[in-house]
Amino acid sequence: MTEPVTVKVAVDAPQHTGLSGALDYSSECPLSPGTLVSVPFGKREVPGVVWHGEADANPAVALRPVSQALDALPPLGTAWRALVDFAAAYYQRSTGEIALSVLPPELRKLDNAQLANRIKKLHKALAAQPDDDTTSVAAAQTAPELTPAQADALAQITAMTALDAPATALLFGITGSGKTEVYLGAAAQALAAGRQALVLVPEINLTPQLEARFAERFKGRHIVSLHSALTPAQRLRNWLAAHLGLADLVLGTRLAVFASMPRLGLIVVDEEHDPSYKQQDGARYSARDLAVYRGRLENATVVLGSATPSLETWQRANEGRYRRLALPARIGGGALPKVRIVDMNQQPKQRGANTALSPPLVVALQERIARGEQSLVFLNRRGYAPVLHCTDCGWKSGCPNCSAWRVFHKLDRTLRCHHCGFTERVPRACPDCGNLDIAPIGRGTERLEEQLSELLRTPDDRPARVARIDADSTRLKGSLEAQLGAVHAGEVDVLVGTQMVTKGHDFRRITLVAAVNPDGALFSSDFRAPERLFALLMQAGGRAGRDAAQAAHSEMWVQTWHPQHALYGALRQHDFEAFAASQLKEREMAGLPPYAHLAILRADARTPEAARAFLQASAELALTLPGADQVMLYPPVPLGVARVANVERMQMLVESASRGALQKFLATWLPALHALRKQPADARIIRWAVDVDPSAI
Ligand code: ADP
Ligand code: ZN
Ligand code: ZN
Repeated sequence: MTEPVTVKVAVDAPQHTGLSGALDYSSECPLSPGTLVSVPFGKREVPGVVWHGEADANPAVALRPVSQALDALPPLGTAWRALVDFAAAYYQRSTGEIALSVLPPELRKLDNAQLANRIKKLHKALAAQPDDDTTSVAAAQTAPELTPAQADALAQITAMTALDAPATALLFGITGSGKTEVYLGAAAQALAAGRQALVLVPEINLTPQLEARFAERFKGRHIVSLHSALTPAQRLRNWLAAHLGLADLVLGTRLAVFASMPRLGLIVVDEEHDPSYKQQDGARYSARDLAVYRGRLENATVVLGSATPSLETWQRANEGRYRRLALPARIGGGALPKVRIVDMNQQPKQRGANTALSPPLVVALQERIARGEQSLVFLNRRGYAPVLHCTDCGWKSGCPNCSAWRVFHKLDRTLRCHHCGFTERVPRACPDCGNLDIAPIGRGTERLEEQLSELLRTPDDRPARVARIDADSTRLKGSLEAQLGAVHAGEVDVLVGTQMVTKGHDFRRITLVAAVNPDGALFSSDFRAPERLFALLMQAGGRAGRDAAQAAHSEMWVQTWHPQHALYGALRQHDFEAFAASQLKEREMAGLPPYAHLAILRADARTPEAARAFLQASAELALTLPGADQVMLYPPVPLGVARVANVERMQMLVESASRGALQKFLATWLPALHALRKQPADARIIRWAVDVDPSAI
């Protein structure tokens, strides 16, 4: 019998244990790095991944043995582990936490025999499908001839791929300029070279549409999707297909950036600027940034696509670190919608409910209806009204658990807190004074829908057909598809929606897009708010005139109280480059990203004092550490919505001119905070967390 060996295993240790690296276990036989195992941890059995093979051959202490090796699963590769190691170090989490959180949860439930069985079944199922020989023929039949700009972009991607160390490309093109066609071309090349392609999209809702387009092009190839709306069994199956190299194409949302793909050759990040690529809890990683890193690790070409790139990406393209490939025009020569800025200061003062819609906009909507065209009215706030109030005593519909108003939803007559979910029936009378006259203030999509239905008529004097798409109207499975179907079928005259409708959908009959109240973002304390608003409005505008025949008379209306704002000036010209240049100049002067690097330390506690005290103690401790002179710590401030579900939330901004210095500092500072938290004075906080490269501040 051979001597047991020591193996290092990454286990899913909670962050507060302060265990960040792999732990030693003994094993009867050597285990390859990347093998999935089950090990004892405290009193529990937990899943783990062998991180390094044999460690110290003669350990001084008696080690607990690995309980089970799931070696039916081929080991996770070196590059995959390197990606997880990088993500753990960069986002300041434990290796095991990231490794286990990005593997399909179902893997934990299976023993080795069950796993072997699943893998066998998968091989069999996929072998039964049509084989690959038809692929190139099918592709040749369905791919349109590329425009010169597309052909040039694709040629440059090809050239990059041929380099020893493929670079990252920014595919910069407005909606409808043919970016997806370039992705398809790049994917075809990767597949022809025997490699796999990974395509990331920001929204689950966009995956079916994209999957259909890829499936049609790549007949006979195995395409799988990875996102959180799959059933656990589907997710495992699709993940396995990628890991075993059986799937040629993987389409997915941000979590798919961690898909194990042994032959990865291409990563596409569509709408790379979209904030949903940043995970907002647990390990707060940016899938876009990890995609770029992963490309370098695995020698895969990375294509970031957008009409309105993030300023970080834009700046890197300016510096030549990413290659910028431009698609300057819409396919078929379709014009971009003409942008009309409506100065709300000039509108006649109206009483009551209709102030949200300026008279000229109502006329414009009416004209579209008369011509049988569709319009999209965009308002980024759901519900009927953001707050109810009593006209007598001034009572407002606050949430008892949060520092926020509860939103009035008229359809089910509820007051709902959008932060903690607390929901009640709307009171018949003011809870404070009994007054029966309680009234809504402001408006959300429900109210806008109601107003438009009352105002707009068809030429034969029937009420216009107004539909609403937002998180409330699409809660039931299949309802979004049904509603989109109705729009496509022409059964809707005016579509009201939140930003949900601005993304990706290819509406052919929409000739007017209107943003009724976008000003809020102009004066936000978050320095990225204008960037996001510009992207959102460009994207919303992109929904209009997608049909070239109608493009010439398609319009984008923006109602604003600040018509002179530079953002709207750039929007009117569809000039992202001018907007980006002015924003970058401001960022440089203010020392903000991409010219500086940020992290946020957050503390949650029952009282604001406790949260603040923890952050202050953390700041004092920071001053004693090496590298503290390279970073700047700002005073703790409450979050925009400070209290949620009776938890007080505070944050402290950490800034450095150097990414490396910030990383080094965080790596010494954060472990010390675990110790700090153990001191009695700071046991009062509920949790703390760090967010590296926060997407919102
Ligand atoms: P984007 O991804 O930039 O929005 P798409 O790739 O979806 O643009 O292209 C917009 C539309 O134009 C799609 O309907 C697509 O099928 C079509 N299209 C794209 N490239 C070509 C081409 N070279 N020839 C003809 N049609 C094209
Ligand atoms: Zn009252
Ligand atoms: Zn609440």
